[in-house]
Amino acid sequence: MQQDFRDSPLFRQQLYIAGSWVDAQSGKTLEVEDPATGKVIGTIPNAGAAETRQAIEAAHEAFKSFSRTTAGERAEMLRRLHQLILDNRDELAGILTLEQGKPLAEAKSEISMSAAYVLWFAEEARRVYGEIIPSPWRERRLLATRQPIGVVGAITPWNFPSSMLARKIAPALAAGCTIVCKPATQTPYSGLAWGELCARAGFPPGVVNVITGSAREIGGELTSNPLVRKITFTGSTEVGKVLLGQAAETVKKVSMELGGNAPFIVFDDADIDRAVQGGIDAKFRNTGQTCVCANRFYVQAGVYDTFVTRLSAAVERLRIGAGVEDGVELGPLIDADSVDKVEELLTDAVAKGGRVMTGGQRHPLGGNFFEPTVVADATSSMRFSREEIFGPLAPVFRFETEEEAIQLANDTEYGLACYFYTRDLGRAFRVSEALDYGIVGVNEGLVTTEVAPFGGVKESGMGREGSRHGIEDYLEMKYVCMGGLGFPVA
Ligand code: NAP
Repeated sequence: MQQDFRDSPLFRQQLYIAGSWVDAQSGKTLEVEDPATGKVIGTIPNAGAAETRQAIEAAHEAFKSFSRTTAGERAEMLRRLHQLILDNRDELAGILTLEQGKPLAEAKSEISMSAAYVLWFAEEARRVYGEIIPSPWRERRLLATRQPIGVVGAITPWNFPSSMLARKIAPALAAGCTIVCKPATQTPYSGLAWGELCARAGFPPGVVNVITGSAREIGGELTSNPLVRKITFTGSTEVGKVLLGQAAETVKKVSMELGGNAPFIVFDDADIDRAVQGGIDAKFRNTGQTCVCANRFYVQAGVYDTFVTRLSAAVERLRIGAGVEDGVELGPLIDADSVDKVEELLTDAVAKGGRVMTGGQRHPLGGNFFEPTVVADATSSMRFSREEIFGPLAPVFRFETEEEAIQLANDTEYGLACYFYTRDLGRAFRVSEALDYGIVGVNEGLVTTEVAPFGGVKESGMGREGSRHGIEDYLEMKYVCMGGLGFPVA
């Protein structure tokens, strides 16, 4: 019999504010469904501005002492958090699959990734150095130090309900900030589990708070409350723009990890089998619902037919089903709207001459399942050349020259991830420099790691998560000019 992860003490159905588990003040709740079955798996408090204010005030109070802990003390707590995540990996992955639908193997690797971010920032906590600046005055000394920015408001999406919060909670705590988190309503339990884990790791009450409910009200309070000094958001470009506007009123520091429209370019000289495997990884992970998912395959004319045939064959071999079943590689989409969107984009492409090579239908499993699909003869008049698909649909466009590939790839307002395959070293440098993207995979379809800077340019956002740069957004620089030190003036 399959384990019911709702029995886990990490499966929490209340808000975590100031170290206590509480309901919404109104007592109202929202239901959460399993996307694989449509069945209700639990409820969450439908909180709003009042609870958000409470959480912010708790975080502000906690900041007074937490910001004065030593880097070593914070590193130690983060190491405990890291170990707790590893010790509870199976339960956390089970909760994640239950609410999000991704295969258990992918859920486990997401939890491992969360643990990896926590360990990385446990290490980085000790490396927040300042500077002593050569003074232009003989009698004064100049210092630049870096201090935690204050209370952080974090809002995250449903596609990586655990690791998107890891990228924010870990650097915030490493820097000495306190945080109020709002996970996505469709996948709140991985977010609420962070509250329980942080409590067990010994973070004092108020340092980490997790609230669920009305996005508009919670987001409105987080972006307008003057006690919040930073907003970090991962989600759609549309919502990101709203939050940027709202945060401008109190001039908060912001980081935005927004949508993408990743090109995946295959040149004539590429290792085709490697490109096919990279294409499967970059397109179909999380059933095509990642911000770095390949959205547009551009394949050079000389290898176009070979690539399309081999990609289609590989796609046909993918096993689809409920994420909890053994050996499943593709789960359901998150909801019925996402299935409708994939279907609409496909209908639009077929009407404009796209050829369905494999898939093309809602899956016989019903509900939120859609067949992994390859469409050949894609053109720039089709909607998916501009829109984020967020589903298991791979459109393949044809191109002739390197210049044309670069121009097509850059012809979008997005600039998060891109991929290309070539064996020509010169081309590898030329093309990676010419692509207007924050992340470039050369002969690689999976590039995310906690040690490298993750983030986009253009309308894909601002700021970087992970790497030694990931902590910078949680720090303020302070310049200290010290005079009256008794040095002779002349
Ligand atoms: P979304 O609709 O923008 O939602 C993301 C989060 O924002 C959710 O917690 C949502 O809450 C909240 N939200 C929605 N409207 C809000 C408002 N008016 N004020 C404050 N918060 C609000 O995005 P999604 O559909 O969940 O996620 C998919 C998008 O995320 C895609 O575009 C994807 O590319 C992007 N993404 C980017 C990255 C990256 O690192 N660049 C990573 C992963 C995903 P509710 O759930 O309550 O609506």
